[in-house]
Amino acid sequence: MKGWTVKSRITLWMGLMTVLLSLLLLLFLLSLSERIMRQTSMAQLEQVVRSNADKVSQKQGKLVLKEDFNFYHSNVNLLIYSKKEALLAGQVPVSFNRSEPFLNGVLRQVEAQDGPVCVLDLWIPFDWEEGVWLRGLSQLPLKAQTTKSLLLFAAAGIPLFVLLAGFGAYFILRRALRPLSAITEMVSAINDTDDLTARLPEPRHKDEFALLTQSFNGMFARLEKAVEIEKQFTDDASHELRTPVSIIKGACEVAEKFDETPQERRETLEIIHRQADKMANLISCLLQMTRLEHGTEKLQMEKQDISGLVARLLEEYDLPSLHYIPSSVFARIDQTQFLRLAQNLIDNALRYGKGEVWISVYEKGKEAIFEVKDNGIGIAPMEQARIWDRFYRVDASHSDEQGTGLGLAMVKRIAEALGGYMTLDSREGRGSTFALHLPLQRP
Ligand code: ADP
Repeated sequence: MKGWTVKSRITLWMGLMTVLLSLLLLLFLLSLSERIMRQTSMAQLEQVVRSNADKVSQKQGKLVLKEDFNFYHSNVNLLIYSKKEALLAGQVPVSFNRSEPFLNGVLRQVEAQDGPVCVLDLWIPFDWEEGVWLRGLSQLPLKAQTTKSLLLFAAAGIPLFVLLAGFGAYFILRRALRPLSAITEMVSAINDTDDLTARLPEPRHKDEFALLTQSFNGMFARLEKAVEIEKQFTDDASHELRTPVSIIKGACEVAEKFDETPQERRETLEIIHRQADKMANLISCLLQMTRLEHGTEKLQMEKQDISGLVARLLEEYDLPSLHYIPSSVFARIDQTQFLRLAQNLIDNALRYGKGEVWISVYEKGKEAIFEVKDNGIGIAPMEQARIWDRFYRVDASHSDEQGTGLGLAMVKRIAEALGGYMTLDSREGRGSTFALHLPLQRP
């Protein structure tokens, strides 16, 4: 059965089950029919004997039978015996044991030569002393006969029954599994064309196939995102690393070709060092962002007082131009990611500001807010939406040479990974305020 389709396998099982059930039904019918036939015969015997009992009387010592007394009626044989058990009227079947004792009113089954017989005797009294016995005999159908006719019926019926059940099962399954075939065809088509943006149409009914379709669509969406992120990483890395690599190569070629003075050599080495640092920073930022986007970065989310964390970070800067307005505020964060975000915002404020930076932590409504404000060059309204994009830098002349253009893109992704979002309030020439909003936690 290994290479069989589900349809064929279920059909076969249905066929076997039908055979088994039919045989069980046959056995049940056999035992039931025998019992029912015996009960029907006995009831009939009793009814015939009792209804004929008042048709027997005596007149001047002679037995008198009414006109409608019937010796053979509904498979019941009636016999009349004297008090001394001598046969007066009726014909005893040859196979019946003539010496069967008389038992008044007792309905019973006795064995005769050609099968079981039901017997009922009734004593019909004429006066104190005289009376006759009325005996009723009813032949029971032979067990073998019943079995034979049922088996005959089964021999013709069961194969027909199995055939019908098999066909029925096959057509029902074919109809029921049609959506599965459609899903398989569509998935193969998507696989063949390599088009991960394609999606399966959602079925109208909310059944198992709808769930399967949803799972496939979810899988395609994840695949599409993963491929997109990977492509973005490769594009970004190859594009952004090209400049520092060519600067390093150029510096090396100059150093090889010309006899540089010690001063020039030091400058060349400084260029190489700066560009190498830039490359290392770029690669680490790109990897970090790719992990955040993939969701593979393991976050250790803990409820923390963020004001304490910020205070410790500012101690490392140890700059008098950083002004801190703390307030105890709790939020669920991953400490490393939060510090990375804070550091990026503070570095930018120092880079693009005029020196003074105000950092505050406070709660507003249901949010915990971490804010970094500077009085620097500010960002034009039309640029404000774009600064969150990778490698977007407002104006190369303004932007720091060491910057990668990835800082704010990473800040945005970290904010989302922590379950929050970023806002920016900025005016050109006046300064900018970057704020991280997180769901507030009770201490
Ligand atoms: P970069 O490495 O260039 O700093 P970022 O992603 O951190 O990259 O920032 C993107 C651009 O946004 C910067 O190049 C800069 O022009 C602008 N920017 C960021 N922070 C500030 C700020 N505090 N004030 C003014 N401009 C800013």
